[in-house]
Amino acid sequence: MSDNSATQPASPGMAIDDEVIIGLEIHCQLDTRTKLFCGCSTDYRDDPPNTHVCPICLGLPGSLPRVNLKAVEFSLRVGKALNCGIAHEAEFARKNYFYPDLNKGFQITQYDKPIAVKGYLDIEGEDGEKRVRITRVHMEEDPGRLVHKGGADRPKYTLVDYNRAGIPLIEIVTEPDLRSPKEARRFLNKLRATLEYLGVFDSEKEGSLRVDANISIQPKGWFEREGKGKADRGRVEVKNISSYKGVEKALTFEITRQKNLIRRGQKLETATRHFVETRGVTTSSRSKEMEQDYRYFPEPDLRPLRVCDWAAEIMLPELPDARRARFMEQYCCSPIHARTLTGELKLAEFYEKVADIDTALAATWLADTLLGELNYRDMSIVVVPPEQFRELLELLKEGSVTDKTGVEVLRVLLDQLKETGSCEGPRACVDRLGLRVITATPTLAGEDPVVKAAKEAIAEQPQAVADYLAGRKEALNFLVGQVMKKTRGCAKPGDVNTVLANLLEEG
Ligand SMILES: [Zn+2]
Repeated sequence: MSDNSATQPASPGMAIDDEVIIGLEIHCQLDTRTKLFCGCSTDYRDDPPNTHVCPICLGLPGSLPRVNLKAVEFSLRVGKALNCGIAHEAEFARKNYFYPDLNKGFQITQYDKPIAVKGYLDIEGEDGEKRVRITRVHMEEDPGRLVHKGGADRPKYTLVDYNRAGIPLIEIVTEPDLRSPKEARRFLNKLRATLEYLGVFDSEKEGSLRVDANISIQPKGWFEREGKGKADRGRVEVKNISSYKGVEKALTFEITRQKNLIRRGQKLETATRHFVETRGVTTSSRSKEMEQDYRYFPEPDLRPLRVCDWAAEIMLPELPDARRARFMEQYCCSPIHARTLTGELKLAEFYEKVADIDTALAATWLADTLLGELNYRDMSIVVVPPEQFRELLELLKEGSVTDKTGVEVLRVLLDQLKETGSCEGPRACVDRLGLRVITATPTLAGEDPVVKAAKEAIAEQPQAVADYLAGRKEALNFLVGQVMKKTRGCAKPGDVNTVLANLLEEG
């Protein structure tokens, strides 16, 4: 959405008085060691299909599920961290439907008695701090996984892997409080951070998060006036989005599609669509089952969970907002740096391992430089050894490298890490590449490398010299750039400035 003008439409082509309404349903795998109702290991990702299965998670007749109490505890932590009310009595229910990934013919989930309800999560919205309401948090089991052979569009045949069947999931449902794809992404980032701080979720694991997004475009104010379920125009549920970037992409695509339909005067039907990640589009899919089609009923093999007192005893760790406040207080981080550095648990922990060298230097180099370089290479902070980054910060702090060569060293080390999983030490790298800072001697002696480079630049750029002498001071910046290039970034910009100014003064 546009930030700069209140009169501009939210996105091009949209009527000024339309607004985007988004709600999310997020499924996260809880990071327990065993499955939700049996003792099978959840560490299935690198193993052959159907090797983490037993009669319970295969749903064989006569097998009885038993609740994994760790998964219950994790869910309670989530409920509390999302400021929810915890159920006096939560209950599992059977959701009946037939699909090959669902071996029992039903999924054990929670229906009218979820473990937690009515909470909220504060995020950085488009117009400042924003509260997103959480409708409910409930527990359920993950279904198995279908493997389509010969392409997803027209597979020759399909295999089923039940290793994933029975992995504990937590489903978090928001109210339709989000107003743009960007807000949706920020919500997900904040939620991910919260779950990681709680120690219940590992976002690095492939497929550990899946999102369904509800989206519609309504006349402005309609939603607030009429409330949920009475939308003027139909809403679309986009299923099966499995990455954080995918959510923003899918929603952006849907907004364009829906606003085109509105512009052509076509009716928007309530529908379910599928996000095709590889093509960045949503496509029409099966019509949505109605709730009554699932014939929910209480799971007869499991007793209700009386968890209220247990929840009261659970102590939560420091969460992202608290850590952000502490970073500003303890390390004098700027609000933007504090938000960035606490936006991921591993990043926050990394910062605290290197902050003692120089809190401000570490914050800048971590939040502004390292993160950018990691994103560019599609790498995660976990692969960077903190002691190597410490050494780079030390070099910068003692003035052995300039900012420019510091970045160069960092790039070399990250490329090595990406290639081989390890890297040389920053000091060794600086020496090998001859990137140690060159300090100019104040005498302007000819053998000084900075002075030599400056004299060359002056000789090569008569126009810039003439401009400078005619009073155009910005011409000096150009000459500084030339000298920096000649010294491969190893000269200190301050030194170069002084040397150049002195030489030009001397004529
Ligand atoms: Zn099992």
